[in-house]
Amino acid sequence: MKKTAAVILAGLMAGSALAGCSNSSKSGSGSSDLPEVGAAIYKFDDTFMSGVRSSIDKYAKDKVKVDIVDSQNSQPTQNDKVDLFITKKKKALIVNPVDRTAAGVIIDKAKAASVPVVFLNREPLPEDMKKWDKVYYVGAKAEESGTMEGQIVADYFKAHPEADKNKDGVLQYVMLKGEPGHQDAELRTQYSIQAIQDAGIKVEKLAEDTAMWDRVKGQEKMAAFLGANGDKIEAVLANNDDMALGAVEALKAAGYFKGDKFMPVVGVDATQPALQALQDGTLLGTVLNDADSQGKASVNLAAVLAKGETPSKDNVGFDISDNQYVWISYKKITKDNINDAKN
Ligand code: BGC
Repeated sequence: MKKTAAVILAGLMAGSALAGCSNSSKSGSGSSDLPEVGAAIYKFDDTFMSGVRSSIDKYAKDKVKVDIVDSQNSQPTQNDKVDLFITKKKKALIVNPVDRTAAGVIIDKAKAASVPVVFLNREPLPEDMKKWDKVYYVGAKAEESGTMEGQIVADYFKAHPEADKNKDGVLQYVMLKGEPGHQDAELRTQYSIQAIQDAGIKVEKLAEDTAMWDRVKGQEKMAAFLGANGDKIEAVLANNDDMALGAVEALKAAGYFKGDKFMPVVGVDATQPALQALQDGTLLGTVLNDADSQGKASVNLAAVLAKGETPSKDNVGFDISDNQYVWISYKKITKDNINDAKN
């Protein structure tokens, strides 16, 4: 408590010394004078996006006053939230679209009101991005995460010949997909399998279905895959960790992860529960989807845009590609380098 009080006091002193004003605000960092930014998340109830949300909050302090709202997985609701932000004269927006193909409508509204937009995690179509030069996208290259996920599976198969249970020289797999149409669902599905093939391993898809990024749905779909294919399944690939962890639950219920009954399961995100599962030995691998940097880059961009300045590497702190894109790198995570995913 004492420490907190000291920090607040130091902040107040620094704030008034710098700004030379006495009526500055609650946090002691002059937050009432900070530019206001509106942020609309596709839905709060998404494990990965919760991490991004915390990051937005964390980095907004001292830069912008951010109002983060839940679009409840409904594009009409999100459009209403954007309208409200514009009416409230927010200086910039951060939007994690519900439907990435709806970004064009949001851009039209924002452009008409001269409010710059930073899209996040769900990539607008290139033709929409070209509608206005004050539109940015912060995300990660979906192909990269797919490739890394596939490589983890390929490495495992090479190191463990017994993983080819029926000894037919072909890897029989099942795929749990995220939301259809989401770039991360489509490209992770495609590139993960491509990477396994590129490693010289033949594959056979036994089943594929969407579990909508969701853990409970992942568990249900995996139970159905097991019911239909039983022991034929030799690997489980999921487009994210929540679905991979759902699959692990279904596998546990079917007797896996006891004795020598093992199943390689991989996901993407490196969420805290996934890191725990890596530690426990139920999840074989994941790919760090860097929520912290994605939130930070979005806030930094929005702050620069809100001041009417032109984003550059110097004022945003991240490389900007093609004048509109900030790409955050992924990283392969297994039990061996688990600490690389903890921050
Ligand atoms: C993450 C998923 C998340 C989705 C939300 C993806 O990048 O890997 O976990 O549900 O974004 O759009």
